[in-house]
Amino acid sequence: MSTVSAYAATSASEPLTKTTITRRDPGPHDAVIDIKFCGICHSDIHTAKAEWGQPNYPVVPGHEIAGVVSAIGSDVTKYKVGDRVGVGCFVDSCRECSSCLAGVEQYCKAGMTTTYNGVGRDGQPTYGGYSQAIVVDENYVLRIPDALPLDAAAPLMCAGITLYSPLRHWNARPGKRIAVIGLGGLGHMGVKLGKAMGADVTVLSQSLKKMEDGLRLGAGHYYATSDRDTFRKLRGSFDLILNTVSANLDLGPYLNLLDVDGTLVELGIPEHPMPVPAFALVLMRRSIAGSNIGGIEETQEMLNFCAEHGVRPEIEVIDADYVNDAYERVLASDVRYRFVIDTSTL
Ligand code: NAP
Ligand code: ZN
Ligand code: ZN
Repeated sequence: MSTVSAYAATSASEPLTKTTITRRDPGPHDAVIDIKFCGICHSDIHTAKAEWGQPNYPVVPGHEIAGVVSAIGSDVTKYKVGDRVGVGCFVDSCRECSSCLAGVEQYCKAGMTTTYNGVGRDGQPTYGGYSQAIVVDENYVLRIPDALPLDAAAPLMCAGITLYSPLRHWNARPGKRIAVIGLGGLGHMGVKLGKAMGADVTVLSQSLKKMEDGLRLGAGHYYATSDRDTFRKLRGSFDLILNTVSANLDLGPYLNLLDVDGTLVELGIPEHPMPVPAFALVLMRRSIAGSNIGGIEETQEMLNFCAEHGVRPEIEVIDADYVNDAYERVLASDVRYRFVIDTSTL
């Protein structure tokens, strides 16, 4: 076992504090990863603050991990020491169910092993990427293409794949009218990836504060949802809406923005349930759906796509001791557009 520095939440109300955790010695199929950068996802905050139920404290968050392989187990074939790699939201799954066999491990019937606040096969709690190193089975490690810098690659491991997967599933392509609700970590990746796939992307943000950014990132249109006129003007005008908002929204007015047969995909996971008005669905045969990150194969496809198409998250690299301030800024929608911890400052 080795001991490494980390940042952990110890209760829902206390700030994160510096601590140490232990990592297992690599088993035959494990890669030891020297973590260089880790993105801050809003899910880290939901978990740390117990908004999704009581977590198993201490929680070391972080599932947007980018680093370099520092050691490998005896039977590892996919990676070698020095390889640039990433780890996303899960580090294992049952490998036997129909989802795992179909390469959609994120929908593992037995439940995937989450990168943090989970329990590994060894029965030990999992700790995430706000730490100096992690040990992961090679089958759950991603290769980061050379064209992607490690700091910018980190947010792709969650924010990137969470938007890539539904954009592919619901056929983003030229002519497809897509709205992204919320221009945060996930939302800005929706704009960039949607644009790279040729779709016509509209941002629906609370205000026009970030409009210049949104248009620069690739949106064709930008509207404020605080302006009720937005909902009148845009009624029936989208094929697909991706809701990335971390808080509860009144979904009815947004559903009415869909054309006949349109789909609203819920990506944000707010603390409380959201009522759905039946008329908004029934009258135009609209659907509401959800989507969870992506499988290993699709995550690799997304990384390669980003390398090829020059898609990179907009990041603000921070020292580890800024993490609590970063959380406050994310909660205030004051993030452009992903905080990434430089783990050499741990
Ligand atoms: P984020 O960076 O905080 O972005 C969320 C955005 O939502 C904000 O920037 C803001 O955009 C908007 N927003 C926030 N509060 C709002 C409110 N009260 N009313 C209206 N809009 C509001 O968060 P994130 O990291 O992108 O994550 C977003 C959500 O997705 C979280 O709930 C997270 O847990 C979830 N998530 C889900 C998956 C998945 O697989 N489905 C993966 C990762 C994260 P504007 O300022 O533009 O309005
Ligand atoms: Zn995440
Ligand atoms: Zn499974």
